Amino acid sequence: MVVALNSANHVLDTIPNAYQTALAQYDRAVRYLDLDENVIEYMRWPRREFSVNFPVKRDDGRVEMFTGYRVHHSTVLGPSKGGIRYSLDVTLDEVRALAMWMTWKCALVHLPYGGAKGGVLVDPKTMSQAELERLTRRYASELIPLMSPHADIPAPDMGTNAQMMAWIMDTYSMTVGYSVPAVVTGKPVNVGGSLGRNEATGRGVIICMVEALKRRGDTDPGSIRLVIQGFGNVGSHAAAYAYDLGYKILAVSDVNGGIYNPKGLDIPALRRYYAQNGALAGFPNSEPVTNAELLTLPCDVLIPAAMEGQITKNNAPRIQASMIVEGANGPTTPEADDILDERGILLVPDILANAGGVIVSYFEWVQDLQAFFWDEEEVYRQLERILLRSYDSTAHMAEQHNVNMRMAAQMSAINRVGKALMTRGIYP
Ligand code: GLU
Repeated sequence: MVVALNSANHVLDTIPNAYQTALAQYDRAVRYLDLDENVIEYMRWPRREFSVNFPVKRDDGRVEMFTGYRVHHSTVLGPSKGGIRYSLDVTLDEVRALAMWMTWKCALVHLPYGGAKGGVLVDPKTMSQAELERLTRRYASELIPLMSPHADIPAPDMGTNAQMMAWIMDTYSMTVGYSVPAVVTGKPVNVGGSLGRNEATGRGVIICMVEALKRRGDTDPGSIRLVIQGFGNVGSHAAAYAYDLGYKILAVSDVNGGIYNPKGLDIPALRRYYAQNGALAGFPNSEPVTNAELLTLPCDVLIPAAMEGQITKNNAPRIQASMIVEGANGPTTPEADDILDERGILLVPDILANAGGVIVSYFEWVQDLQAFFWDEEEVYRQLERILLRSYDSTAHMAEQHNVNMRMAAQMSAINRVGKALMTRGIYP
């Protein structure tokens, strides 16, 4: 367990160790698979772990040291792919877990990628735009030996955004001497980004939710109540898309807490309010709730879209939703999974539910490599096609083996990487 630095804002004083969660999920899934035991041991390990301490000049002239990581968990199916996180909660173990989940996520939805993740221990809210630019460029230049469109392709994650991806692309391009948009995804559209990339993760979460609801006969959006933890890139776009489709969003939160209206929140007005005020608190016709209270509010679908380790054995018994769709990576611990399972709560796991982001990252990379760009309709059509195909194969696996959706998703993904590893063989 690690002690959370800004523990007042967290559901728990301690965040369960994400890497222990990732390994426990792995160990559970491989029991069902017919894979060589050497291959099982191989895939348990991250391929490379890079850690760097680097200086950044603050606006007042002081030089401060920062620590960053980049972990490549696997490159079996292709170049490693995954976001970069800026947060004070970053640890090497967290980055290892997130890198491993990227491997399974890409494999599950059939992208030709391995998995990676990066992180810098920094609270981006405490830095000016110029300081963020210097930090991002220096971290990017430290990563250059690892990065390339054919080796490792970063993207945004918690605390990072499209502008930072543009700085990474520019730093790399200036170093090699020509523009290489395909080295990073999640860029602004005017420097080779893809239409729809910003919205993709949140939209994908809702595509999976709609499919899960449809499969149990719930086809009237107006009768379904959602609660969303997190109002960043994933939570806010999930809320916006769900609202457009007619679903009722009763509560949302950010790191400082949440707001609740049992009759439903006006999400377009809330997004304007949030952009203006930088806070959810005080939004008209809503009452405050803590992040802990939010998770156990009465609703039909709970969407954890903040960070890992939020649903644990302590709160899982009190969750009132009948369905959980994981927008965040690793929001549920294995003990909580068991409790939710026993209680008959359907969980659509992270590596499926939030794969929309990396799917559209893949489209962006393909568009950059081909220098041929798609319209938004095409992006959304292909996104939905891949997600629904993956949902269907996961549901099929779950039924066939009589396991839950997390287990089924992990099993298909691990099996795919394991089989590829066996075909490639062990070098030398
Ligand atoms: N950070 C996102 C994720 O966790 C996107 C990664 C990517 O697009 O490479 O899936």
